[in-house]
Amino acid sequence: MQIVDVEAVPLSSSIPEEKQHRTDLGTKVKSDAVLVFVTADDGTTGVGASLGQPRSIEAIVDESLAPLVEGENPHDTTRCWEKMYTGSRWPPSIERGYTQPREGRRGLTLEAISGVDIAIHDLAAKLVELPLYRYLGAARHSIRAYASGGWAAGEAAKDELGEYTDRGFEAVKMRVVGEESSERFDIQATVERVSAARDGVGDADLMIDAHGSLDVSTAIRLAERLQPFDISWFEEPVSPDDHPGLATVRESTTIPIATGEREFTRFDFRSLFDHDACDVAQPDIARAGGITELRRIAAMASARGVRVAPHAWGSGVLFAASLHFALATQNVHVLEVPQGHMPMLTELFDQEFEIEDGRVHPPARPGLGFTIRDDFADRFEYEPGPEYVF
Ligand SMILES: [Mg+2]
Repeated sequence: MQIVDVEAVPLSSSIPEEKQHRTDLGTKVKSDAVLVFVTADDGTTGVGASLGQPRSIEAIVDESLAPLVEGENPHDTTRCWEKMYTGSRWPPSIERGYTQPREGRRGLTLEAISGVDIAIHDLAAKLVELPLYRYLGAARHSIRAYASGGWAAGEAAKDELGEYTDRGFEAVKMRVVGEESSERFDIQATVERVSAARDGVGDADLMIDAHGSLDVSTAIRLAERLQPFDISWFEEPVSPDDHPGLATVRESTTIPIATGEREFTRFDFRSLFDHDACDVAQPDIARAGGITELRRIAAMASARGVRVAPHAWGSGVLFAASLHFALATQNVHVLEVPQGHMPMLTELFDQEFEIEDGRVHPPARPGLGFTIRDDFADRFEYEPGPEYVF
């Protein structure tokens, strides 16, 4: 059994104006995704997903990664990962036991590696006819979910977040900067939105996300003002480039700190943990290194008393891979369920995700457990241009 073909397919889905949301990142005008297909010599195909600029990811997969994994056995997932991460130095890396990375240690290369790694895992689990989370060694059979959205301005946050709990979610997340966002960040406006959201969700878990948009002192002052609202985590208060600054924010507050969606590999997470910078780690499976690397990150986090809540904002393939990782990993405690307008999350597969009473349930089918609709390439034809416009 060997891998005979690896292909990356860039996709897009534009967002109608009335469904666009605005935050500190700007206005989201479209979603991009890259699906990666890995095929074995018996014709079985696995699918993965990569974040990152689609055409660039396609080129890295085609030119750089495909030749390294073609010819390998799809069950040799760790070997395939190491080959992609180390390039020409994979023989000494595997023989001597210390990693010798090539130049692509972060960024687009890791996003491309993530997509291939997920696809190889889907393929391997399909070949033994097991759902992926069982192929990995299941820890649980469903996972608590949180509804991730919360952009509404002012008092409207009450109804927006309340609608999530009305649908059965017992945990919800809102953006620190919402639809009213302007040039200047306004702590009072955020406090009013969070207060309204708390009214709307009752005693559900309420998290907030700043996308790394604040400076350290502003983040500390905001955390102080939010103390009365029983916040379950404050996500990315400051730039992901500032691990010491994040540690300073964490030390100033009893609100748990979450971060990690823009980190790459266990080496970035090691820095976060060495700085005692977070209570919850949020690696993205389509960015930080796929299933192989997220399991290593989760093991490191577990030894530091840090829980894991995978960032899962993207295509249906990204979400399905996150679900299986969450089910197979003891210290994952909650899974993100995006509430934005995302057709590539909800309309990519022939099947729907089973989300009931605030929990996500996996399909019983092998691998990721979903089949991609036949017309996906036409329906989500790639369009150049940015996803966000300020
Ligand atoms: Mg976030």
